[in-house]
Amino acid sequence: GKPSCECNTCYQPPDCSQLSLDCAADADSGNPLFLEPYWQEHAASSAVVVAGWHRMSYTTTGKNFISLELERHIRMLHLMVGNAVADDRFIVFGSGSTQLLYALIHALSQGQNSSGPASVVASIPYYPPYRMQTDLFDSKLAEWKGVTSSWANESSSIGSMKDFIEFVTSPNNPDGLLKHSVLSGSSSIYDRAYYWPHFTAIPAPADEDVMIFTTSKLSGHASSRFGWALIKDKDVYMRTVDYIQLNTMGVSRDTQLRILKLFKVILGELGGESDIFAFGHKTMSERWSKLNQVVSRSKRFSLQTIPPQYCKYFKTISDPSPAYGWLKCEMEEDGECSAVLRAAGIIGREGSMFEADDRHVRLSLLKTQDDFDQLLQKMEALISNYESIM
Ligand code: PMP
Repeated sequence: GKPSCECNTCYQPPDCSQLSLDCAADADSGNPLFLEPYWQEHAASSAVVVAGWHRMSYTTTGKNFISLELERHIRMLHLMVGNAVADDRFIVFGSGSTQLLYALIHALSQGQNSSGPASVVASIPYYPPYRMQTDLFDSKLAEWKGVTSSWANESSSIGSMKDFIEFVTSPNNPDGLLKHSVLSGSSSIYDRAYYWPHFTAIPAPADEDVMIFTTSKLSGHASSRFGWALIKDKDVYMRTVDYIQLNTMGVSRDTQLRILKLFKVILGELGGESDIFAFGHKTMSERWSKLNQVVSRSKRFSLQTIPPQYCKYFKTISDPSPAYGWLKCEMEEDGECSAVLRAAGIIGREGSMFEADDRHVRLSLLKTQDDFDQLLQKMEALISNYESIM
């Protein structure tokens, strides 16, 4: 058994083998711990030791606060995985992709040369920080203007959408679907956090003008706070760098060192037995198929449908493997879906958080195996209790 200090709170000491029955399954956050076993298998080769005198300077090997070696490895990773065109693109590093969201709103809105603020929009269901950051900064440059669909209908009467900045999350958080921009003539920020073979088929390299990525969902190292943007236009790039310069003077050099080490391990294992994407996709697709089997036994609930697609990375049609289940309560009386789940000991994230309806709940599938097993167990119990009283 595991030592008691490492027990998940739902398992009991001394050896963490006993699951406490009254403990809720927490499927709320997107904590990417499904990759922890992968790094346990690569503990020595992925370790970093930094001497006290090392990397003390503000300066970096590359311009604008980036390590050239890390930049080179990022370009190589995109090329080998085939998920994004990274050649001839400028790269900006951020403290997680979270920092880059507003850096890019700043950069794109300043370029629009319009009299009023830029209109920032996203399509329902969307990742809440796009709206929350725009509201928080409350700037003269950019204003949250709600959901894309309401503007798409009006675009013919307004004419050009050049003052709009559209967030497109592809695959989407929460529903895992590949999305495209809706407004023509607007600027788009493509959030590609989940565009890795763990979570989706890769039909073609992404090639948008502005794309953001994060190591949180690639290697699973959310704690290091590392993301990057690939930017086509030089002026947009320069204004993004201005923001990062004033905001944090670049990403921690310690973090850059750690990420470089991790990416070297990932690259070294690609295509082999210990390919991180083979591991990630196997884990996520197994979880998805198990959850689907349970949910499909009942008419009370449904999950999103993810069409199988050819994946250029695996060179086959790959089974769906989304990061989240976007669960729907189908019965009239279950309008508050999260309350139905909570009564059965399952904590999910309400649909209203994503500006969707409360018939939907997001269930995180990318936490630890224990977390997932508990979720499945509670879901099975909920569904069999319900079916037996019907
Ligand atoms: N974009 C999306 C769609 C996400 O789901 C997340 C994390 N949940 C982020 C951005 C931010 O990730 P991070 O700041 O850890 O890079």
